Amino acid sequence: MTTRFLVVLDADSTLIRNEVIELIADEAGRGSEVAAATEAAMRGETDFATSLRSRVQALAGVPTRAFDRVLSRIEPTPGVRELTAAVHERGGAVGVVSGGFHEILDSLAPTLGVDVWR
Ligand SMILES: [Mg+2]
Repeated sequence: MTTRFLVVLDADSTLIRNEVIELIADEAGRGSEVAAATEAAMRGETDFATSLRSRVQALAGVPTRAFDRVLSRIEPTPGVRELTAAVHERGGAVGVVSGGFHEILDSLAPTLGVDVWR
């Protein structure tokens, strides 16, 4: 069957209620610092690229096994499964685009009815 339309969502604070970078930073004991930096960047108070680099540097040393704990803390946005089901019922597909962490999205997206993610 041909896909009739595509609905595309952001991941962090859209598909899910969390900011994954903040959950990973929690694993390094730097969650509140990274959350404050994210909020300042979203308010336009800091240059986004510089802010992103400093936030990612705060993740240094977090072991990859931490992704399991991060994944367990993800809260899907209420209604997201109903949204993807309704899109499918009408012949559409759901995509997610993210500049975040595929280590999380690769496990999460299929459980929420997402058809394609990058
Ligand atoms: Mg977002």
